[in-house]
Amino acid sequence: MCGIVGYIGNNDTKEVLLNGLEKLEYRGYDSAGIATSNDEGIQLFKVKGRIANLREKVDNSVQSTMGIGHTRWATHGAPSEENAHPHQSASGRFTIVHNGVIENYYEIRDEYLANVSLKSETDTEIIVQLIEVLNDKNNDVAKSFRQAVALLKGSYALALIDSKDQEKIYVAKNKSPLLVGLGDGFNLVASDAMATLKETDRYVEIHDKEVVIVKRDFVEIQSLDGVAIEREPYTAEIDATDIEKGTYPHFMLKEIDEQPPVIRKIIQEYKDDNDSIKLDQDIRQAMLDSDRVYIIAAGTSYHAGLVGKQLIEKLANVPVEVHIASEFSYNMPLLSEKPLFVFISQSGETADSRSVLVETKKLGHPALTITNVPGSTLSREADFTLHLHAGPEIAVASTKAYTAQIAVLALLAVDTAQAKGIDLSFDPLQELGIVASVMESLTDQKEEFEKLAKEFFTETRNAFYIGRGMDYFVVQEASLKLKEISYIQAEGFAGGELKHGTIALIEEGTPVIALSTQANVNYSIRGNVQEVAARGAKTCVISLEGLEQESDTFVLPHVHELLTPLVSVVPMQLLAYYAALHRDCDVDKPRNLAKSVTVE
Ligand code: GLU
Repeated sequence: MCGIVGYIGNNDTKEVLLNGLEKLEYRGYDSAGIATSNDEGIQLFKVKGRIANLREKVDNSVQSTMGIGHTRWATHGAPSEENAHPHQSASGRFTIVHNGVIENYYEIRDEYLANVSLKSETDTEIIVQLIEVLNDKNNDVAKSFRQAVALLKGSYALALIDSKDQEKIYVAKNKSPLLVGLGDGFNLVASDAMATLKETDRYVEIHDKEVVIVKRDFVEIQSLDGVAIEREPYTAEIDATDIEKGTYPHFMLKEIDEQPPVIRKIIQEYKDDNDSIKLDQDIRQAMLDSDRVYIIAAGTSYHAGLVGKQLIEKLANVPVEVHIASEFSYNMPLLSEKPLFVFISQSGETADSRSVLVETKKLGHPALTITNVPGSTLSREADFTLHLHAGPEIAVASTKAYTAQIAVLALLAVDTAQAKGIDLSFDPLQELGIVASVMESLTDQKEEFEKLAKEFFTETRNAFYIGRGMDYFVVQEASLKLKEISYIQAEGFAGGELKHGTIALIEEGTPVIALSTQANVNYSIRGNVQEVAARGAKTCVISLEGLEQESDTFVLPHVHELLTPLVSVVPMQLLAYYAALHRDCDVDKPRNLAKSVTVE
């Protein structure tokens, strides 16, 4: 969630911090701040709202060669200037930024900070106050930082500066993402590589419960006992141009348009010289060894998982369960004898999924992560990774990661089927090629969906999407897209379930978008459309070539029946995009949402 940037070098730090924070804006936040340090002391600038406001507030005459910055997604205390980070210790000597949630902050406050009057409502402030209290005893900042970190329970990415020392930034993490970027004569700290791409492509990983002291020309990793740890740096392969909007008005639109090339890239990456699927042998073996797959995911990735279940069960004949990550630990099902856990996460940092991974690892079960970020926590900690190859996804509402997840799940299903000797009677890579072309034909018809969005979503407060079979999973994703960015209350419903209660909400003019791409339910979903139309709903039917009827609003070109979600979701994404646009919503950064949800 939200983000951290830190810089220590020889140039002025304000721009590096502000640019870095702008690159992290996509993660979602409600307030922001920076602290810089020079011979005069610490300069602190904080605002509620956007980085643009922070830019206006920062005093450009201040020169400093080190500092820390933060975007906050409030968990403890309202979004306000007082609660915005950085936070300072009572004397003002120490200044900290923090992402995550400290679970034992009341305990720490009561045990160590009885004599300190807190200035904010955040869980974060106790960390910096604790460091000062410990340092009053120790008179050793590194030791006090390590001791404080050892006392913390929960998730954190931390960066601390000391007004009496312009040579060091102290950092640490647990569960929340944070890495060190290496430069020539300078070093950086950031929640993700995106924030530092202008400055470097070389990084050092930080592991949970380590402390790192970042200097201008040296990075020192220590265990919580103060023992030095050696670690080789790595080079990240992110193209800086991938994170620019170019001529697009919004990242979301750019990312919708990137779906056909992403599918082609996936075909290329997972194809061998004989035009067959090329997948890690160990992953194939893990699938063959398992008697049941448990997909764990959240939000859009969960919806991709629902489609993945159908693909794996229908093609590879392996039973699959799909679980919402945040519920799994409390509603844990009885596990089969040989479970394989599959985690789906665009960012690879989803805290809810990670806590399941930690738990299932303890139980000794194998885990596969499907993610867009190979070096991410979920990827590092699972036994295997399948990479989405979708390129950075910046818009908060996921589009190309969803379709990439389904495409990769389809390849996993097909590979398992082939390994089991099941004859599929179609060429999956060729079928995915057709999908890419059809997606392209849809993104070429944006005006159609813009018109429909205007007609259906300009005035309304609510909307329904209905579908059956595979389409039911897509309409859940369709409604989530609409909710996320246009704030229209929307529900994705199983067509047959509507009349068991929810149809009571249909009134004159209620928009109902129906999807019909599955031959076996084509007639029944059309029956459901009639039921709502008879009660005044304004209906729109999107069908698949071969199943269409004259009155259908839009007919999708034909693709393999199991791959229809990859194309039927595209009109849904465009409808949500234009609905949000016409309603003047902030398409790429919707209110209250964060891109990578790194708190549980
Ligand atoms: N829990 C902290 C707060 O509410 C940090 C939230 C964040 O990750 O931005 O201030």
